[in-house]
Amino acid sequence: MSENAEPTPPTAPPARPVDSTKPSGGGPLDTLNRPLRDLRISVTDRCNFRCTYCMPKEVFGRDYQFLPRAEILTFEEITRLARLFVAHGVRKIRVTGGEPLLRNDLEKLIAMLARVDGLEDLTLTTNGSLLKPRIHALTQAGLQRVTVSLDSLDNDVFKAMNDVDFPVERVLEGIEAAAEAGLAPVKVNMVVKKGVNDDSVLDMALYFRGTGAIVRFIEYMDVGSSNGWRLDDVVPAAEIVKMINAEMPLEPIAPDYRGEVAQRYRYKDGSGEIGVVASVTQPFCGDCTRARLSADGKLYTCLFATKGHDFRALLRAGKTDEEIAAFLRSVWKVRDDRYSELRATATPGLSKVEMSYVGG
Ligand code: SF4
Repeated sequence: MSENAEPTPPTAPPARPVDSTKPSGGGPLDTLNRPLRDLRISVTDRCNFRCTYCMPKEVFGRDYQFLPRAEILTFEEITRLARLFVAHGVRKIRVTGGEPLLRNDLEKLIAMLARVDGLEDLTLTTNGSLLKPRIHALTQAGLQRVTVSLDSLDNDVFKAMNDVDFPVERVLEGIEAAAEAGLAPVKVNMVVKKGVNDDSVLDMALYFRGTGAIVRFIEYMDVGSSNGWRLDDVVPAAEIVKMINAEMPLEPIAPDYRGEVAQRYRYKDGSGEIGVVASVTQPFCGDCTRARLSADGKLYTCLFATKGHDFRALLRAGKTDEEIAAFLRSVWKVRDDRYSELRATATPGLSKVEMSYVGG
């Protein structure tokens, strides 16, 4: 191969074989033999950003009715549910929103969740705007990892994406503070939208290479029913890998566990790794072990679900742990979600749950 020839783009990492000898963590399997492993808990539907692909201002404007306080689960209710979910196989909890750091005293909830027996991984997804001043208390409370959303290093592009004129610098300070607080590797999520921030992909890869942070490039998705999604605006993950590989050669890395969302690649020169999340062009529903709990206690078994299952009603009706556990099992056992695999044939105009309500 002549030295100027473009490096051959690496193929996608091999899928991790299903380890059927591994017990399902004592939990139910769904109709596609998928265990429940990963619970995302939204602690608020509010956010201080208005990212156009998640919470467009036109829909989530000044008059938008967010959940009233009384309807939101208390920390005690969240922790009780978390304990029951862990008893049914959950090993990883991701605290999300909206923007979770808008929830007062979130450190208290982190400390309560960190004490749940059997939980192996406690992480948080944030837009980073409030992270720097809070990271030490969150780490002290037991937070193990953090993912920060950042869609460009270019201030104008970033502002166009978050639609609230928030500067990149403040988010970068949060990422740095998280690494200093010992939460490395910090994951950085970038949603790539064609014609909006795709020119920022290489800059992001270059900036974070060698820092220990891992950028995950996410295909723009038709989440919810309000972001005006078009397939034409999607930059396929394979193209993103090719773009980066042409400048900084990459090689695939095998996934860490079944259900890992991102395809992982490392730089051949050993200076770090990236990930791509290809929900549109290379769906991964077959290994999806995720469930999402909204701030008002509804369980969604898919990011693109159209209905949720009300656990708050059971909690507030004084149901026993066993009664709530039985409901959980009944919900998961009949789960057959695989929206991303069926996207092309999905009914147009489906009223899908909003990502800001269930956390990505
Ligand atoms: S589309 Fe639904 S089932 Fe498929 S990977 Fe995403 S959340 Fe899981």
